[in-house]
Amino acid sequence: MDSITALLSSALEEVRPLDGGATASYIPELADADPERLALSVVGPRGRVRSVGDEDAEFTIQSMSKPFVLALALAERGRDAVLSKVGAEPSGEPFNAISLEAVTGRPANPMINAGAIATTALVGGDDVDARTGRIVELMSGFAGRSLWVDEAVYASESSTGDRNRALAHLLRSYGVIEVPVELAVETYFRQCSVLVTVRDLAVMASTLAFGGWNPVTGQRVVSEAVARDVLSMMASCGMYDFSGQWLLRVGLPAKSGVSGGVLAVAPSQFGVAAFSPRLDAHGNSVRAVAVVELLSERLGMHLLEPHESMAAPAVSVDAGDDGPTIRLSGELGFAGTERVVAVLRELAGGLPAGSVVRLDARELARTHPAALAALEGEFEGLPLGFRLET
Ligand code: GLN
Repeated sequence: MDSITALLSSALEEVRPLDGGATASYIPELADADPERLALSVVGPRGRVRSVGDEDAEFTIQSMSKPFVLALALAERGRDAVLSKVGAEPSGEPFNAISLEAVTGRPANPMINAGAIATTALVGGDDVDARTGRIVELMSGFAGRSLWVDEAVYASESSTGDRNRALAHLLRSYGVIEVPVELAVETYFRQCSVLVTVRDLAVMASTLAFGGWNPVTGQRVVSEAVARDVLSMMASCGMYDFSGQWLLRVGLPAKSGVSGGVLAVAPSQFGVAAFSPRLDAHGNSVRAVAVVELLSERLGMHLLEPHESMAAPAVSVDAGDDGPTIRLSGELGFAGTERVVAVLRELAGGLPAGSVVRLDARELARTHPAALAALEGEFEGLPLGFRLET
């Protein structure tokens, strides 16, 4: 067992004794889930999957489908069209609340049921099957394998889905949903009933972590802009009325579902997923929340703590016969230019006037244009020649 798997395993054992909460009771098929199940999975930048516990257990994706359907709506319709039907504000209310804006009837955000039904209604396709097909295809791209709908859970949810139908009727009365109510809700029930494992969810999370590029399959699934929008909504609204506390304690965009799963995204680092069916009062899995919090602490994943690489890009200097070369690699952000300028100043002190310094930016994986422009400005202020290689 490698050290990260060992760490996952010990985190899992630490939360196993937590036996509070209860399985979701309002969808009969979910009420019957084995409450003892527990699993955790992490996917890193090279697509290596590490899973512990009941990693092969299948469960339905439920609300964790919401970020991916949002991704599809954003890709198909664009941000403005989506935001004309659904907001981007945390509701501070339970997942199934009637969180609609006064006058427009726009739901607060796409991570609660009302907003998700509105988002689903934006997906193209002539009927429920065509629409579900598009959704499942995109989710499969995120997961790196073909996913499908659990018909028993779908039937169970559809036959007890009065509250979601009521929400959809309200949305249609405001013109937020323009398609027939049944088309929107049946597609929504089907998207919630897609079967996944904790591993699938971790791969899906990792695809968001790497800007819409799946590190396991090497395929681009959505654009960076779409992935960023989805993560933003997850960060502010992904854990229902626990979203603020979650951001405080865990510091990661995340999404939970009533089947007991939680997926979390450490941008540029990891996709994480945990599963255990017993839920707390917010409808979030008790153990999944606890284990992701532990992991975030131990692996230093909180987004709002300092990350050295932004302020200290990799810089090396080659002496060279015809003048020195400063080589940059990794990512150069605006803050990182300070380090490069410090290196440059030190170098300039020991060079005869008129020397030429080369700045080799070819190995930079990512450059923010403002950062390079700032560096050029610094060079211009020195009595040195300058060549920028990009
Ligand atoms: N299918 C569930 C519902 O609509 C999803 C809710 C959830 O996971 N929070 O009620």
